[in-house]
Amino acid sequence: MIERKVRVRFAPSPTGPLHIGGVRTALYNYLFAKQHGGDLVLRIEDTDSNRFVPGAEEYILESFRWLGIKFDEGVSFGGNYGPYRQSERRDIYKQYVKQLLDAGKAYIAFDTPEELEAKRAEIENFQYDAATRLSMRNSLAMSAEEVAALIESGHQYVVRFKIEPGEKVVVNDIIRGEVTINSSILDDKVLYKSADELPTYHLANIVDDHLMEITHVIRGEEWLPSAPLHVLLYRAFGWEDTMPQFAHLSLLLKPEGNGKLSKRDGDRLGFPVFPLEWNDPKSGAVSTGFRESDYLPEAVVNFLALLGWNPGDDVEMMSLEELVKKFDLSKCSKAGARFDYKKMVWFNHEYILQKSDREIAEIFMDVVKQHGVETTLEHLEVIVSLMKGRVNFVHELWDASSFYFEAPVAYDEKTAKKRWKEDSAQKMTELADLLESLDDFSIENQDKAVHEWIEVKGYGMGDIMNAFRLALVGEGKGPQMFHISGLIGKEETLARLRRAITVLG
Ligand code: GLU
Repeated sequence: MIERKVRVRFAPSPTGPLHIGGVRTALYNYLFAKQHGGDLVLRIEDTDSNRFVPGAEEYILESFRWLGIKFDEGVSFGGNYGPYRQSERRDIYKQYVKQLLDAGKAYIAFDTPEELEAKRAEIENFQYDAATRLSMRNSLAMSAEEVAALIESGHQYVVRFKIEPGEKVVVNDIIRGEVTINSSILDDKVLYKSADELPTYHLANIVDDHLMEITHVIRGEEWLPSAPLHVLLYRAFGWEDTMPQFAHLSLLLKPEGNGKLSKRDGDRLGFPVFPLEWNDPKSGAVSTGFRESDYLPEAVVNFLALLGWNPGDDVEMMSLEELVKKFDLSKCSKAGARFDYKKMVWFNHEYILQKSDREIAEIFMDVVKQHGVETTLEHLEVIVSLMKGRVNFVHELWDASSFYFEAPVAYDEKTAKKRWKEDSAQKMTELADLLESLDDFSIENQDKAVHEWIEVKGYGMGDIMNAFRLALVGEGKGPQMFHISGLIGKEETLARLRRAITVLG
C-alpha cells in the first residue's frame, strides 16, 4: 500500500448548535492530524435541506475559533479540494450516482412515501432489499420504457443502492477492531433524491471522503451502524485501495453514567453542553455555552481530551501541544465516557491558577467594568494574585474581592454580633489614629506598627483583626488584613474605619 499523507475531516451537519460530543470528535481529529503532520478539513454536510438551520455554520466556526482548534482546509479556510459545502457539490454527486446506475449497482425507485408506509403496514419488519425489491415500483421491476416515461412525465424518484445479499462486510475500526456483518441485514439505502437533486448523507459522505483523499474517518459511535454500508459503497465504486480507516469514538454518558448525555442533563445539573451560547432561531430558546458560563477554552479542551482517552500516566493538565504529542487514537476506550462536570470545574480552577495573573486580570477587567468600576490592569493583577486560588471561575473573583473596589454598604449581622465588642469602637479609633500617623503605608510597615501597638497595649491579636476586617470588608472574609488596607490605601482605610465606628458604635 502506498503511504498517504494523513488527512482527516470534521463533517458536521448545520442542524443546530454543535453538541459537546461533536466538539470532542473535532478535537480528536485535530490531535490525530497534528501528530501525524497531516491536514484537518472542515466539511459542511448540508444536503438535508429539511434540517438546515440558519446560523449553525457560523456558530460552528466561531466555536472552534474560541477553542483554538484550527483547521487546515475547508469551509472558510479554503484549499484545493473545494467546494467544502456539500450543497455546492451537486453536480459532482450526480456524476457518481450515474456511475453506480450505469454499472447496475444502484437503481431508480418511484415508490411514494404513502406506498412505502402501506408496505410497512402490510408486511411486518418490511425492509427494501433483495427479497422485496422486485415487488416494488423501481427500475429493476419495470421496463426501461416505463421508467423513462415516468421520469419524462415529471415523477419524482430516488436512487437506491442495490445491496447484494450474503456478502461478508468487514469494518476495520482502529478503536473497535474488526466488526463483521452480513450484507443481508442491510436495506437498499436511498442515495439520491430527484426532488431536491441532492444526494443523501451516505453518498455525499463517501464521495467526498474519496475525492478529498481522507485517510482516517474519526467520528461518533452513532455512525458505526452506517459503516458497513459505507464499506460496500467504496467497493461499488472500486475505491477499496484508498478506503479510509475508521475509528468510532465512544458515547458521552450522563454524569451518573447511565444513558447518553443530553442537554436536559446540563439543565438539570447546571452545566452547559454547547461550546457557545445558542439562540434557537425557531423557538427563541437560549441555551448557555461554555464560553458564556465563564469556562476557559484551555480547560474545556483539556477536559474533553480526557473523555474517552487517557495518557496512561497520572498527568491530567495538558496543553494542546502536549495533547498532540501524547494522544493515541488506538487507546481510546470503546466504553462510554461519563461526563464528569465537576471535573470540568476542577480543570477551570487549575487553569486559572496556571495562567499568569496578568491574563486573568485581563478577563476580570470586563467583569469589573460591568460593575461600573474603573481601575487599572496593574491593580487588578495584584488582586488576582491574592484571590485567584479561591475561585473556580473568573467572574467569581468579583464576589470574592468586591471589597477592594467598594466600601461595605452594610455589616453582616452575625459577624458584627460576634466580632464587634463593647470596646471595639474605642480600639478601632486608636487603630485609625495609629494608621493615620504612618507616613509609610506599605503592608510591611503597617504590619510592624500595628503589632507593636497591640503588644504595648496588651490587646488580643484576633480581637483587633476581626473588628478591623468587619470595618473594611463588612463581613468575615478576605485575605490577610494589611493586604486589604495596603491595596485600598490610607484614605479609604481610614474612611471605612471611621464609618464603622459611627455605624456600629
Ligand atoms: N454529517 C455527519 C454528522 O453530522 C458526519 C458523520 C461522519 O463524520 O461521517 O456528524
